[in-house]
Amino acid sequence: MTATRVLVLNSGSSSVKYQLLDMRDRSRLAVGLVERIGEAGSRLKHTPLTGGGTEAREREEPMADHDAALRAVAEELSADGLGLDSPELAAIGHRVVHGGLKFTEPTVVTDEVLKEIQRLVPVAPLHNPANITGIRTAQALRPDLPQVAVFDTAFHTTMPESAARYAMDVATADQHRVRRYGFHGTSHAYVSRATAELLGKAPEDVNVIVLHLGNGASASAVRGGRCVDTSMGLTPLEGLVMGTRSGDMDPAVIFHLVRVGEMGIDEIDDLLNKKSGLVGLCGDNDMREIRRRIDEGDERAALAFDIYIHRLKKYIGAYYAVLGRVDAVVFTAGVGENAAPVREAAVAGLEELGLAVDGELNSVRSDEARLISPEYARVAVAVVPTDEELEIANQTYALVSDPA
Ligand code: ADP
Repeated sequence: MTATRVLVLNSGSSSVKYQLLDMRDRSRLAVGLVERIGEAGSRLKHTPLTGGGTEAREREEPMADHDAALRAVAEELSADGLGLDSPELAAIGHRVVHGGLKFTEPTVVTDEVLKEIQRLVPVAPLHNPANITGIRTAQALRPDLPQVAVFDTAFHTTMPESAARYAMDVATADQHRVRRYGFHGTSHAYVSRATAELLGKAPEDVNVIVLHLGNGASASAVRGGRCVDTSMGLTPLEGLVMGTRSGDMDPAVIFHLVRVGEMGIDEIDDLLNKKSGLVGLCGDNDMREIRRRIDEGDERAALAFDIYIHRLKKYIGAYYAVLGRVDAVVFTAGVGENAAPVREAAVAGLEELGLAVDGELNSVRSDEARLISPEYARVAVAVVPTDEELEIANQTYALVSDPA
């Protein structure tokens, strides 16, 4: 029997998201989420997508660590006849947030690879430790199986130095590995390729601006399938206004808050990552709620929306200039895929750049990749649902079935 299944794991510090896919037809066999690992009220939500039923099953029980969580996941999968001991499982693909400069491709995990991911912890203190724990736990469960790391940063390693370097003292930057790495790379890779497909062209032949607008948000400029600039930097804090992150600001704001506001570094870190962006501006980070409040005449929500759109528009303009010629501007992730008013406002007034949105096409709700620009527009505007898990599974399977 050939092994055609891939388990995708996205391990956070207290959560694990997972999907089991059959790569023959790329179908999902099961999906699930474990939350509050190591905290009170640990719970697992598991949804089988084949066979008997597709009802979600929930269990709430103490799960002290990732090992306990993954064992509970394995039990649920076994109950559906999809056990992790099955010879049909080809590999486990792990989302790893920071791959630094070294990891430009998906990589089979070895001790050396784990050490390098560990070495990157100082630049990804929240994410990489959780990703390492996820990999180690999965290794213990199936030591014979290839574990593949798929890095959020990998797609951005093609950025030229002119885009990747901050204009600061080179020796200091290099000593502390301070540069722009970018994140959401798996999504930008998937969506830019899917956009080329939607246009009926080869990825090498198209230039695309990808706007990944979820709770975290980032833009990228992709020339002929290769990333040439992206809005997140050393950490995911840089760039667009996000749900709870500030995005771009004068770095001297931090000095000011330390000197004049007498705030501590951790407090400012928390402020800019968790209490800023849309939530800081108006108290809500869900675009649905913000739109509802705007409809009711709420001025704070309206200002938050305007600031969000202003920043987005600046990045569209900047990346238009970086690329020179743009074939498509594409919206993806929770906000990008669902919030028609965001798409309309981001592109409004850019007709001179060949950009326009057709009101009727824009208001259609769909899970499919689709064009929303009028026929006459020089540049396509598209909505392409992202699928990071599928991309991780694809990359993982490609590596283990053809490890050239
Ligand atoms: P994450 O960054 O957590 O992966 P997602 O890509 O799932 O985020 O996006 C989540 C965000 O998408 C929510 O915070 C909300 O603002 C937005 N969103 C989801 N559904 C809708 C909708 N129907 N209309 C407008 N915004 C939506």
